[in-house]
Amino acid sequence: MRIGVLGAGQLGRMLALAGYPLAKTFVFYDLSGSPSVGLGEVIIDREGQYLEDFLSRVDRVTYEFEHLPVAVAEKIAAAKPMHPSPRALQVCQNREAEKTLFGELGIPTPQWKIADSAQSLKQAAEELGCPVVAKSNTEGYDGKGQAVLRSPEEAAAAWEAIGHPRLIVEKFVEFSREVSIIAARAEDGDIAFYPMAENTHHEGILRYSIAPAPGLSEDTRIEAERYIRALLSELDYVGVLTLELFETEHGLVANEMAPRVHNSGHWTIEGATTSQFENHIRAVSGHALGDTTPKGVSCMINIIAEHGDIERILRLPYAHVHLYNKGERPGRKLGHVNILADSYEELVWRVRNCAEFLPGSPEFSCSLTRG
Ligand code: AMP
Repeated sequence: MRIGVLGAGQLGRMLALAGYPLAKTFVFYDLSGSPSVGLGEVIIDREGQYLEDFLSRVDRVTYEFEHLPVAVAEKIAAAKPMHPSPRALQVCQNREAEKTLFGELGIPTPQWKIADSAQSLKQAAEELGCPVVAKSNTEGYDGKGQAVLRSPEEAAAAWEAIGHPRLIVEKFVEFSREVSIIAARAEDGDIAFYPMAENTHHEGILRYSIAPAPGLSEDTRIEAERYIRALLSELDYVGVLTLELFETEHGLVANEMAPRVHNSGHWTIEGATTSQFENHIRAVSGHALGDTTPKGVSCMINIIAEHGDIERILRLPYAHVHLYNKGERPGRKLGHVNILADSYEELVWRVRNCAEFLPGSPEFSCSLTRG
């Protein structure tokens, strides 16, 4: 089976690495002009001239990148089986549509309002009560196109800085930590959940994911699984879906979802029986899902901006290094290291040891280190 992947970055690379043992072959379709996937066949199409060519070479289509024009996705879905569906893509591209769907499905969100001018941003901040987070309604990722307003008087400057015609303004959530849940749904409707991850961000970029999230209550796990199950069913979803959540005193609050494999699931490559990448390939190819049981406890450390001392990390017997074959650049994801351990205590020690060799890494701070 030949799988067409829209997007040609590191997620596509890891999908291919998981698909080759199942005898899948890959054709990547890149609209950016700078593919980094480094394997499989790549069609670069900045002008949109080679879509027919791409479609003629593949049996099924999926994507690793959700900022794809919905019209293109619909055209593709009319020609070949495409998972997840263009509707999932459309919802995830638009924060207003996403939060509206969450609300319809009974998934709690921060209180939110829409602003389409500096004046309405100020009014939204007054009505919600500061602090609030203003986000561009479309096109934002990794904390880009966002501003926190400490008072409504900051509205004019925030409007200017974000520079987007439509914003979603959210009440700032006082969370104890950020968590995510990843699930896969097969064509026959079977669903597999991964254990949830605890995620630590620095300057808007994910740095550490620990899974299973330490100290997570059974009630919280059940709540998260209920939410993601509702989304999977509503969207008649096939493939891997990620839901990012805030854990608060009063339960979980949804932040956003991603219709694809996710950085907070990279730990599954060595840390679970079947990785998120393999399960995505299984689902979109029409196969049964694989077991999602974790193997001990894991932490994924992102390698951002500079590679650090990879040779030293390669000598650590508990570290699994994944490099994306990308050049160093501020804020760029260059690879990740998966650390496995038998206990959280051992995990913390190992992560700190490994992070010593990644000079740009922020200090390892999570629920385990805060005591
Ligand atoms: P997002 O692009 O929506 O994932 O936001 C990036 C990061 O900003 C999140 O991972 C949170 O750390 C923070 N953030 C976003 N929305 C809120 C909110 N309503 N309250 C508090 N923090 C937020």
